[in-house]
Amino acid sequence: MNEPTHFDLLAIGGGFAGLCTAVRGAELGMRTAVLEAGADESYRCSSRWAGGIFHVSYHDVKLSPDELVAAINRQTSGETDQELAAAIAADAGPTVDWLASRGAVFTQASPAGWHRFTLAPPRLPVAGQDWQGRGPDRLLGELRRRLDERQGRLFLGTRAASLRLRRGQVVGINAHKDGKVLEMCADAVAIADGGFPGNAELFSKYIGPRPDRVLMRHAGTAIGDGLRMAIDAGAAYVGLDRFYGHLLSRDAMENEGLWPYPQIDAVATAAIVVDQRCCRILDEGLGGISITNDLARLDDPLCATVICDAPIWEGAGKAALIPPNPQLLAGGGALHRSDTLEALAEAAGLPPENLAATVAEYNDAVRFNRLTTLLPERSARSGAPQRIETPPFFAIPICAGITNTMGGIAIDGHGRVKRPDGSAITGLYAAGGSTGGLEGGGALGYVGGLIKACVFGLRVAEHAAGQLHRCLK
Ligand SMILES: Cc1cc2nc3c(=O)[nH]c(=O)nc-3n(C[C@H](O)[C@H](O)[C@H](O)COP(=O)(O)OP(=O)(O)OC[C@H]3O[C@@H](n4cnc5c(N)ncnc54)[C@H](O)[C@@H]3O)c2cc1C
Repeated sequence: MNEPTHFDLLAIGGGFAGLCTAVRGAELGMRTAVLEAGADESYRCSSRWAGGIFHVSYHDVKLSPDELVAAINRQTSGETDQELAAAIAADAGPTVDWLASRGAVFTQASPAGWHRFTLAPPRLPVAGQDWQGRGPDRLLGELRRRLDERQGRLFLGTRAASLRLRRGQVVGINAHKDGKVLEMCADAVAIADGGFPGNAELFSKYIGPRPDRVLMRHAGTAIGDGLRMAIDAGAAYVGLDRFYGHLLSRDAMENEGLWPYPQIDAVATAAIVVDQRCCRILDEGLGGISITNDLARLDDPLCATVICDAPIWEGAGKAALIPPNPQLLAGGGALHRSDTLEALAEAAGLPPENLAATVAEYNDAVRFNRLTTLLPERSARSGAPQRIETPPFFAIPICAGITNTMGGIAIDGHGRVKRPDGSAITGLYAAGGSTGGLEGGGALGYVGGLIKACVFGLRVAEHAAGQLHRCLK
């Protein structure tokens, strides 16, 4: 039987952004399909591997739109596209309700407000991969089932290669499947390919010189196809140098059991991060995402070690849902420990006298409130700094892990792809990790990958359906 090749709305990518687009579009009466490059039924994507926490800038998605806009602005220091922020704030609550009515099961993963909507079952609090059968994996299955019920299509093993354009308008996609070229027509195309965290060339161009020395903390399937296609069609892009990511044990570069968790962020933020000479190299107080970005831009992103003491290891070390204390050791990661800083430096292969001097200078700055005189300066955005003075002392060799790109294709509040002059490219939309403008402002403010994917997936479908029905009238 010949496959249909004409659709009202085609989504590129079968993560949450693409599936929300296609399911909602089908519910609104459109003939929709998803092209998914992965051939396997459990095709890899960040959506499947996610921790499953739906939040808006670390706030409960059910707060009022005004509160959520304020939270986004605080997180991004106001350097966010206000139209996109307003869209997220208005739709975050209704979007989790829509997901719940389409098979999502939510649980409160911890007493923290921003953990209220975590997909169930949540992953176990253990180091390493644990996505099979967890909430995000199940929800992808539920959305797919609903797509089938509405006669929407999911084409596995089908990689979109280029957009089909007629007189500046997008009218379909050329895709590759089993070595053949498929020509598919559509009134609207939604790019939902997850961005470009897995594209080493784009990483080198926009983020840092050594992608080979940065941990790829993602499914490896978002490789920038959508960005390339959108730019070829005349799209604008924004903030490509910013990414969302976390600090991990340096051993995660070799040891699968140490990523995507435990993250070392909370410990690093409470402590100091030094290079091989034991010099502090960045502002730890700006938080884990900022530290991760700073490391990834260095000539050698693998040069860094976190130095902390017992109160930090017993406090911040145990604070996360999947805490490095004790999951770092459980996963097989290096943790050096000693009663003196000199012995700690020796164990970690660092110059002993330099470490003692760096810690002494830091402790003095904390004691006498001179943090702004340190080089680099130490801010207190992520919590008040504390002295590193109570043995045992700990050293954790770390690496930077990229989870997803924060920048990407420029869109408006409906997910329409914009040209550099601000006009929309007819027939072209983008959603989720492929888009930019919302996140990455200030100290690399994060809004939330899951809520962004689902809110804009739904918005794209609503707008495309409105356009189609207007044409049919
Ligand atoms: C370990 C981990 C934990 C995370 N935890 C959270 C969390 O708890 N909360 C949160 O908010 N965010 C979290 N995130 C981020 C979140 O998962 C992503 O931001 C979000 O899922 C992105 O969804 P997406 O649909 O845009 O992209 P993806 O889920 O990456 O899907 C993109 C899809 O497009 C396909 N594709 C790529 N190119 C093509 C092509 N040319 N043709 C066809 N198909 C193509 C890929 O195969 C992939 O299936 C986490 C991410 C990771 C990796």
